[in-house]
Amino acid sequence: MTDSCSFICERCGKCCVNLPTWDEVPAVLKCWVLDFDPKAEALYKAVDPGTGHCSYLRMEGQTAVCSIYDDRPRMCVVYRCDEAEAMGLWNREEAPVP
Ligand code: SF4
Ligand code: SF4
Repeated sequence: MTDSCSFICERCGKCCVNLPTWDEVPAVLKCWVLDFDPKAEALYKAVDPGTGHCSYLRMEGQTAVCSIYDDRPRMCVVYRCDEAEAMGLWNREEAPVP
């Protein structure tokens, strides 16, 4: 039986790139995002507008390291790429590599 609660992050870093900047987050979503995660605005403002890369991401070889891991935004804590894939929001295989 598959345990839907188990998820192993492979630390590929693909979810930490290709992010929207704060200006690109739809205005209608901003209040919801801030209610869920007060740190979200600072996170999105740390996104490079040219690349969509979070500036807190460091790659050590093929391994993603979050430089603010212990203080990372809630949305980063709860994010599961398998759920996003199941909802058809993205495809990790096709996502850009950091
Ligand atoms: S895309 Fe998935 S496996 Fe890769 S770092 Fe993000 S959560 Fe982990
Ligand atoms: S704060 Fe850390 S976990 Fe969140 S997107 Fe940036 S590098 Fe990834």
